[in-house]
Parts: sequence; C-alpha cells; structure tokens
Amino acid sequence: MSLLLHICCGPCAAYPVKFLREQGYSLSGYFYNPNIHPYKEFQKRLETLQDYVKQVELELIVDDQYCLEEFLLQALHSEQGRCHNCYEMRLRQTAKYAKAHGFEAFSSTLLVSPYQKHQLIIDVAEQVARQEEIPFAYFDFRSGWYEGVAISKQMELYRQPYCGCIFSEKERYLKPKKEK
Ligand code: SF4
Repeated sequence: MSLLLHICCGPCAAYPVKFLREQGYSLSGYFYNPNIHPYKEFQKRLETLQDYVKQVELELIVDDQYCLEEFLLQALHSEQGRCHNCYEMRLRQTAKYAKAHGFEAFSSTLLVSPYQKHQLIIDVAEQVARQEEIPFAYFDFRSGWYEGVAISKQMELYRQPYCGCIFSEKERYLKPKKEK
C-alpha cells in the first residue's frame, strides 16, 4: 500500500518509518507544520528532518507555507481548542495531497508521541478522511516511543523541547511564581 506519512519532525519519524517499512508499506514523507514557532525553530526542525530523510533514503515532500497569522487567529478563537485546529489543518493538507497524488492512504507521526492528544488526532483524522475521501491509516506507534528516542539520539538529531506553537513554548518555560 502506498502511504503518505505526515511528519511533524525528524525524531518523531524515526520509529514510524522503521515500523512501516518493516510492514512493507511504500512510504513518502510529507512536511507541513506551520504551527511551529518561532520561524527559526521551524527552520531548524525542517533541516533536522531533511538530514534524517537523507540518512534513511526516504522521499520527503515539503510544503513550507508559514501562515503564522492564520494559525494564531484560529488558535485564539477556536471553539474546539487550539490543538484540534492544529491537527485538522495539518492532516487536511496531508489528506488533500495524498488524494491528489494517488496515494492509497495517509497517516501521521503525531501518533508516536505520548505527549500528544492521541484520541483527538484519531477523531480529527477520521473526519478529515471522510471529508477528503481518502482512508486514514491508524497505527498506535506509542509503544515505539523510546526506540524512536534512542534512534534519534544515535543519529544525533536535534530534539525539540516543546510541541510547536508559541503557546506550547510558554507552557514549557514559564514557571509558576512561588507564593510568598
Ligand atoms: S500544543 Fe502542539 S498540537 Fe497543540 S496547538 Fe500547539 S503545536 Fe499544535
């Protein structure tokens, strides 16, 4: 089966790519992540991914649109929460590309992370799949999380300290003030 794999970053790709190749999938990667802020961080993650795909000889399609203002507006005004919008934006673009270019299904490396909202990713992806009329291939990659961490360290890939958006950067670094 030909599968278009949305890739959020190099380290998160390490286990899913290994697993899917072992399962016999014909795989291409797809980078579309305008949720990554600031722009220098976006560039760093993309460069890391490009280094990774070169090492493992994986085809990578890059959509480097950086619709910062649109992302922030949607994140701030989302009724369903910013992560819902963020997943939908990225998975819809992936599904559209997969459909337009003859892939049989799409999936995402977001499914490897124990820090992501796993069920929400599934719900959003299944809705997108129905609307865009292309199957979503679900895999629970989470059992391979630590293996992926080990591979990324072995390959000396840059490992980012926060999810992606500027809100997640704040949550990572802003420590609550101690009560006096
Ligand atoms: S926390 Fe992560 S998934 Fe949620 S909106 Fe920010 S970048 Fe997207």
